[in-house]
Amino acid sequence: MEDTNKVICPDCGAEIIKPENMQFGDILECQECGTEVEILSLEPLKYQELVEEK
Ligand SMILES: [Zn+2]
Repeated sequence: MEDTNKVICPDCGAEIIKPENMQFGDILECQECGTEVEILSLEPLKYQELVEEK
């Protein structure tokens, strides 16, 4: 059974701790590698790696 309530870093695979009042559009940062993930949806949980323009 998959826990779809977790945010997993798309880069290093570490679990990203979700803030208590996480909302749509929030940007979370991976504690392991610093990759930023944007929350697209809470129910169901969807997120994507935030790619910065360089
Ligand atoms: Zn990471």
